[in-house]
Amino acid sequence: MLDCLPERIEPAGLADVGRSFRGEVPVGELVRLLPSLSCSDNALKVQLVFRLDERRLRTLEGSIEGHVDLVCQRCLGTLRLPLDLKFRLGIASDEAQVGRLPDGYEPLLVTGEPMRTYDVIEDEVLLALPAIPLHAGEERCETGYQNQPAAEKRNPFAVLEKLKF
Ligand SMILES: [Zn+2]
Repeated sequence: MLDCLPERIEPAGLADVGRSFRGEVPVGELVRLLPSLSCSDNALKVQLVFRLDERRLRTLEGSIEGHVDLVCQRCLGTLRLPLDLKFRLGIASDEAQVGRLPDGYEPLLVTGEPMRTYDVIEDEVLLALPAIPLHAGEERCETGYQNQPAAEKRNPFAVLEKLKF
């Protein structure tokens, strides 16, 4: 496995010869993600393994680890989404090949022209993002939002206090 990510890849050719790469991708380079992010200073750890599988199918298996800082759509605070993605793509050069991919493979449609490595990674991260990022569960919304329900709860007691007198 090479300790670098090429800027451009030609997936079919790389699968034929069996090449693997690993490296770090600055989140700020994933331009289609940027509108969703509150911060883009971090990097993602990426591995890409191109190979022919046992059926002689050209595949790209990969992983993406790290996190992205999204904007919570309720409080506009930062919502950290941990990423531990694994993906398995079947490299296909036309729709007929896409149709023949076995279960468990998402298609990676190639033209024979080199493609941007970051585009492939960006696609996988975009698929993992929630449609509407919101703090949930253990996490709490920041700023005034959570104070609102508490203030409403106090009101009934205030009314009761008055009734006592
Ligand atoms: Zn929130």
